[in-house]
Amino acid sequence: MKFKATLTFAKTLDKADPLKKYRDKFIIPQLKEGGAYFCGNSLGLQPAAAPELFGKELRRWAEDAVEGHFTGAQPWAEYHEVYATLLAEIVGAKTKEVVAMNSLTVNLHLLMATFYQPVKGRTKILTEKGSFSSDRYALRSQIELRGLNPDDHLIEVAPRKGEHTLRKEDVLKAIKDCGEELALVMMGGVNYYTGQVFPMKEITAAAHKAGAVCAFDLAHAVGNVPLELHKWNVDFAVWCSYKYLNAGPGAVGGAFIHERHVKRTDLFRLAGWWGNRKEDRFAMKEEFNPSATVDGWQLSNAPIFNMIALKASLDIFEAAGMKKIQNKRQQMTEWLEFLLKEKCKGKKYSLRLITPSGEKERGAQFSFDAGKKAEQLFKELSKAGFVTDLRKPSVIRITPAPLYNSYEELFRLAEFIGERCEWLKGKV
Ligand SMILES: *Cc1c(COP(=O)(O)O)cnc(C)c1O
Repeated sequence: MKFKATLTFAKTLDKADPLKKYRDKFIIPQLKEGGAYFCGNSLGLQPAAAPELFGKELRRWAEDAVEGHFTGAQPWAEYHEVYATLLAEIVGAKTKEVVAMNSLTVNLHLLMATFYQPVKGRTKILTEKGSFSSDRYALRSQIELRGLNPDDHLIEVAPRKGEHTLRKEDVLKAIKDCGEELALVMMGGVNYYTGQVFPMKEITAAAHKAGAVCAFDLAHAVGNVPLELHKWNVDFAVWCSYKYLNAGPGAVGGAFIHERHVKRTDLFRLAGWWGNRKEDRFAMKEEFNPSATVDGWQLSNAPIFNMIALKASLDIFEAAGMKKIQNKRQQMTEWLEFLLKEKCKGKKYSLRLITPSGEKERGAQFSFDAGKKAEQLFKELSKAGFVTDLRKPSVIRITPAPLYNSYEELFRLAEFIGERCEWLKGKV
């Protein structure tokens, strides 16, 4: 689409937006007049239906007490099941491959207990340099748990000198070079810092060719970019739900395990009673008899009050449809890039975008380097009611969330930044 950098054009885009009605399905924080929320990649906004759904479960607890496990339209004993259907649509999986459970880092450890099985000569894990701290800690500690030295066994593929993002050929080559020593490839789906989307399908194929297991951390990918985990043949994936999935702080996370593994009830796992087949969960047998679905990796009964807002949000995703969400996400990011270039035009300073510009290489997130003035710009943005995120020393992340942000909000943001380009002049 040919954009024009005007408020009228922003309003035209909003008017034509097929998702505009979903903004009202969220509680938009009361910000300073003219401001806007752009931190949906960090904490998604509260679905407006959440308080009522919480109220309903609180009432059921008060009225039905222990019976609540087995009564009502959605008994607590089966509460997690509906999530699999809704999440499967978002991650491109079969229902039996998806479960809402625990939290991201916990799931990463749990699934690595099954899928990181170093054997003589094949012991290494490959990941991206500059991943989210928790992932690095988890990978290193898993290596140590197996009596190995993480300094020798964790391979981190880095961007080339002077570049911010990873080149596909470098990742694929690193996998190939590691060859028979490689036990596991575990990368982000979208890098949290740069917003780069990794070529998950090709990475999976390369990992498998090397004889390794392939896994992804989808914290910044789920509910954001197109995912086809089943088709891509990914072995396992984990995610959190409080970012693009708007499930609230610390909400229940999720996991995917490919069909070819879930039926392997003989696979080692760290077991808990909720991993039992449904009919055996309350039988209290001595023998663990795991479900032949991803449910077989569950440990504990579902944390109901930690799942409620996720349901409210997933209902919105279902109604809006991932395809439309992705179309808007793509157009909003293009719009923001266009506006910033227009508004900063002719000024001595230009912001250095570190998120790739290619349509397939980025999702909703837009990271730019504002150099020495980043902190000042961030403070001014905050003061004006624009909620963004500063990653020290100099990167500002902006995330237009297709379900609740508008083109007009992005216009106001770009105009605000454009007006401040002058004092940002100089090399970043
Ligand atoms: C947000 C995020 C996490 C957070 O982990 P929790 O276990 O949910 O606290 C981990 N990894 C990545 C890549 C993230 O973006």
